[in-house]
Amino acid sequence: KMLFGIKLFNYWFWGYICFLIFLITMINLILFGKPGSGKGTQAEFVKKKYDLIHISTGDLFRNNMSNNTDLGLLAKSYIEKGDLVPDEVTIKMLEAEVNTHPNANGFIFDGFPRTTVQAEILDQFLSTLNLSISLTIALEVDENLLIDRLISRGKDSGRADDQDRSKIQNRFNEYNNKTSPLINFYKIQNKFFKVNGVGDINDISARIFNTIDNNI
Ligand code: ADP
Repeated sequence: KMLFGIKLFNYWFWGYICFLIFLITMINLILFGKPGSGKGTQAEFVKKKYDLIHISTGDLFRNNMSNNTDLGLLAKSYIEKGDLVPDEVTIKMLEAEVNTHPNANGFIFDGFPRTTVQAEILDQFLSTLNLSISLTIALEVDENLLIDRLISRGKDSGRADDQDRSKIQNRFNEYNNKTSPLINFYKIQNKFFKVNGVGDINDISARIFNTIDNNI
């Protein structure tokens, strides 16, 4: 049997169809939100439910800092002030991390991208792997509540950037100036969805799962 000149029992043909189905079913998510909005916590739930690889640029920087790598020493000078780490450094680290998971079902990006340049390069990079962002989920929480959450996280974790109100305020400023333009970047692609990030942790997960299932 032939279809469009292609033999239907050609293994290459069916292999290609399976590959396309695989690409379509891949979910690549961005978890978006201000510092302390709960991205890391929720990423863990989403990762389990959809069998994704969780990549947190904040965690990657902190691992490098605690191992005193060159990258860690460089990042530390920015992170401790509450500034963003420069794009070139962050992007290189992220690409290296994605490349260590060639067989992933999909990725959940937490804390990346945080600037328009990072978002543009992420799209280009994913397209070289025949991948793309499926959707962006923003956790919405009021700044006053975030300050309380961050200060109490700083007491437990010892994170220097969580212990000082002026550093926290600087992180909000970095977010408002450099990260918030991404809302529009993903809105015009119809990939931006807001979720209320206040309430019971499990209720928030349920809101995220609904958003994913309804929009994927
Ligand atoms: P939070 O979301 O609570 O601010 P993260 O753990 O995501 O914490 O990030 C901690 C810090 O690491 C940020 O304040 C910033 O300095 C740095 N960082 C993390 N991700 C990025 C990024 N994509 N671009 C630049 N800097 C980053």
